[in-house]
Amino acid sequence: MSETRKKQPPIAIDGPAVSGKSSVGKAFASRIVYRYLDTGLMYRAATWNAVQNGVDVSDLESVAAATAEMRFSVSETGTGGNSILVNDEDVTRHLHSVSVDAVVSAVSAVGRVREIMVAEQRRLASEGGVVMVGRDIGTVVLPEAPLKIYLTATARTRAERRYKDFVSAGEDVDFEEILKSMEERDRADSSRANSPLRPAEDAKVVDTDQLTMDEVVDCLFELLEGII
Ligand code: C5P
Repeated sequence: MSETRKKQPPIAIDGPAVSGKSSVGKAFASRIVYRYLDTGLMYRAATWNAVQNGVDVSDLESVAAATAEMRFSVSETGTGGNSILVNDEDVTRHLHSVSVDAVVSAVSAVGRVREIMVAEQRRLASEGGVVMVGRDIGTVVLPEAPLKIYLTATARTRAERRYKDFVSAGEDVDFEEILKSMEERDRADSSRANSPLRPAEDAKVVDTDQLTMDEVVDCLFELLEGII
């Protein structure tokens, strides 16, 4: 790890499901030659692990125990995304399934799960030069980040984006079901006691409803230039 990299301050990007955080974060990281970390994948991996082990996700103790026992590591793929190993198995391709979507909010509301994930996220940020994407990066994980972005878009726009992703992946899905699951996830993520989804006080809020991904990335670049 180079000393120059270590000095590069982190950039936090938060926002609700499918607000464009991942694609924007990845493109922005590549533009400014930063690493990219999608923290949602980490909560998804804990969820997948719990489901695989037959854990009842409403049983907080069991979810916490299964997560504490899980060995995991996140790395960057050649295309600038992330992959995640759980107990030496690459589980990345399983993490955006409808079954993980359905219970990931319950798992990520468990305090012990958050402690484990936040500790790892801070460790990765300490290596420098990272664009970190999630729900609580600006508020909890890296409140010292000099640039905090909060991306928004209406639930309908986000559900339409997700629907298109599923359809182009050849999956047979119901739009209304996706919209409902999105709204439920928003509600759960914003109303939980532990690290609820909300913009940090000093976050720059960017509404992506009418913007293309490139326009959002340009906007972030301007915001970054404004602080350096
Ligand atoms: O970003 P993504 O939709 O993949 O995140 C999946 C879920 O993980 C969210 O709905 C939320 O419950 C949880 N999450 C979180 N904190 C983060 C990132 C994701 O609670 N920093």
